[in-house]
Amino acid sequence: MMFVSTRGKAPEITLDRALIAGLAPDGGLYVPESIPVLDAAIIESLARQPLTRVAVAVLSPYFSGSSLAAKLESICEQAFDFPAPLRALRRDGDHLLELFHGPTAAFKDYAARFLAGCLSALRTDDDPETTILVATSGDTGAAVAAAFHRRPGFRVVILYPDGRVSPAQAHGLGCWGDNVQAFRVAGSFDDCQRLAKQALADESLRQACPLTTANSISLGRLLPQAAYYAKAAVDHRAAHGEVLNLIVPTGNLGNACAALVARRMGFPIGELRLATNANPTLSEYFDGDDYQPRDAIATLANAMDVGAPSNFERLRYWYADDKALREAVRVDRVDDDTIRSVIGDAPGQEAIIPCPHTATGLHALRQLRQEGDQRDWAVVATAHPAKFTGIVEPLVGQIIAQPPSLEAMAERPSGAEPLPVDYASLKAALLGV
Ligand SMILES: *Cc1c(COP(=O)(O)O)cnc(C)c1O
Repeated sequence: MMFVSTRGKAPEITLDRALIAGLAPDGGLYVPESIPVLDAAIIESLARQPLTRVAVAVLSPYFSGSSLAAKLESICEQAFDFPAPLRALRRDGDHLLELFHGPTAAFKDYAARFLAGCLSALRTDDDPETTILVATSGDTGAAVAAAFHRRPGFRVVILYPDGRVSPAQAHGLGCWGDNVQAFRVAGSFDDCQRLAKQALADESLRQACPLTTANSISLGRLLPQAAYYAKAAVDHRAAHGEVLNLIVPTGNLGNACAALVARRMGFPIGELRLATNANPTLSEYFDGDDYQPRDAIATLANAMDVGAPSNFERLRYWYADDKALREAVRVDRVDDDTIRSVIGDAPGQEAIIPCPHTATGLHALRQLRQEGDQRDWAVVATAHPAKFTGIVEPLVGQIIAQPPSLEAMAERPSGAEPLPVDYASLKAALLGV
């Protein structure tokens, strides 16, 4: 399998090279030359199989011809070693796909660990150290730091918007030390993302300091995320004979693109809905306006504070035109007041406590039910509520128990260095001058 750039002005390359490159040289994002459709019998045979086994089946076609093909199974065993339960909620047909049982309690642990496994396996002993540069709106940085912490041959540099992540998130970004460095940037997530993209496109910097990204623009992040959707959908159909419709809380569109990939591969996924916070870029586009990237506004669902979703380019690439794309996906935009009220009501209505991101998805589901929709839906629970105690606890009036992974992180000391929104400063920091 070969991989091409969404902008069509870069040569096609192998998976190994696409994983290392991150961004294509024409500024585009790598996508598979085609999305393989699995045999219906193979898909059926995956029902009730372990997540690792489903992941190998989903990812194998993309790894054909890669030097990593023989290692795919062991990479999946390490990356997918915590469960992604599809939990039935109170109302018939309502489900929560819980993706927050990993080391940093957000769905990004799966993909970060998978990418780390791939990049480690691609290294040889005499390769120079590689810097993983990651812009984060809160959770990516911690997941990537945890996945690469103390991995030989790698350094992680995290850029996050100062004051726009929760205290627990900030702690989780700065608590690693060793080969992980965190910078709190005096700007928005989009500023962080722009700085990272500029560094990745800077050939002279990359000569001096081999650099790649672990953001959701990386194929090594996108592809593995298809695995948990595939598993949820085959298991659901085996149990209930129905396709599973999905609501994905969305910021940079990485997780949503993975759901689309799983659906295109033939897994029994029905409708895909995206829930966003108050940032209007996606909802306005899907309502028929031109695509208009802009600065992000800060919301309670901060890991989705994105005004210029980088994976939009992939979404557009996969559909013939705007009309086809608008028919394939729906978007619900959810403001902070609604997020608050959903969190406050959830213990009574759904018998769960959602994080603010998951709450946007839950709101979309409640609206569908109000409109009389009877289909089976899963809301993707993207993070554990204990990462957002400052927001969630006062709304639900109870203390949220910390999962053991977050407790372990809380015990480490934490700190980050300040960085202005200025490329020269970032470059100096990366070169250690
Ligand atoms: C990153 C993140 C999102 C958004 O995911 P995208 O792939 O960027 O769309 C939603 N919720 C949480 C908790 C996240 O960390």
